[in-house]
Amino acid sequence: MIIVLKPEATQSDLEHILKRIEEWGLRPHVSRGEHRTIVGVIGDEQKLQAQPLAALPGVEQVLPILKPFKLASREFKKSDTVIQVGRVRIGGGSLAMIAGPCAVENYEILDTIAAAVKAAGANILRGGAFKPRTSPYSFQGLGEVGLRILHDIGQKYDMPVVTEVMDPRQVELVNRYADMFQIGARNMQNFDLLREVGRTQKPVLLKRGMSATVKDLLLSAEYILSEGNQQVVLCERGVRTFEDSTRNTLDLSAVPNVKGQSHLPIIVDPSHATGRPDLIPSMARAAVAAGADGVHIEVHCAPEKALSDGPQALLPSQYAELMRELRRLAELLGKVIS
Ligand code: PEP
Ligand code: MN
Repeated sequence: MIIVLKPEATQSDLEHILKRIEEWGLRPHVSRGEHRTIVGVIGDEQKLQAQPLAALPGVEQVLPILKPFKLASREFKKSDTVIQVGRVRIGGGSLAMIAGPCAVENYEILDTIAAAVKAAGANILRGGAFKPRTSPYSFQGLGEVGLRILHDIGQKYDMPVVTEVMDPRQVELVNRYADMFQIGARNMQNFDLLREVGRTQKPVLLKRGMSATVKDLLLSAEYILSEGNQQVVLCERGVRTFEDSTRNTLDLSAVPNVKGQSHLPIIVDPSHATGRPDLIPSMARAAVAAGADGVHIEVHCAPEKALSDGPQALLPSQYAELMRELRRLAELLGKVIS
């Protein structure tokens, strides 16, 4: 349910409403808009319907949230959510330009790549330390050593860093080194993991599962939000289809589709969506044109030697060229890259 407060409702009206809701064993989420405050009430629908919410002082209207996801829905919050990662803003007209290698391989290689993407205009550095590999014999990532390298290089280039966390038991460790958690496609429905990052106050980049619907993605975001962490950025990274000339099929319609249903920002990862450097620039431009709040791109200085996802990495020079185009496009659309 959504409780819309009267414009003249006072702070003590609000406190009274929150107290009552908690007494009924329900969970309130306050959202302060420019003109009004609304309170989302989450919990057992039957308990909710039994309470005289409309009779509370200061309440103007009580509305049901029709979508299965509540806190993530546009009904709950009309204005676009802006997520802050370090000094970088994502959403509401600010674009995230996330770039870096698939995996952190060693200090020197990440240093070279970070210097290049920073110079090209990227504002967040990525790099996996825990890698979800299809084969158990493939490079699995450097673990904590990789996290430390990523953190140090992020500091060196004054870039916040994002890295994948695969297991609830790793959350505390990754939290110490990263500015943003990444939940990968394979873990989008690892509900214990979603809950665990939901108990932190760190931004989360939640990637769409390869067979997940947009509704599934938003319900996964709901797991994080409902634990108290409101800082979720969604990521479209392609879904599995019968098409086999690309790694996945980029569902660009997910961008306006999500925006219609949710206030959360959504970015696009054309690297994992296509798996092909020749397609990445055009899909990145298309993503920004479609309203995405940023792009997430893998870059490597020696793709043929990369320990993971080398074939889809852009060279630093290709990334710099793409960034020149994206900056022009952003300007045309009235967006900023912070
Ligand atoms: C990655 O970002 O390196 C990755 C493994 O992505 P995804 O989870 O989208 O496959
Ligand atoms: Mn990768």
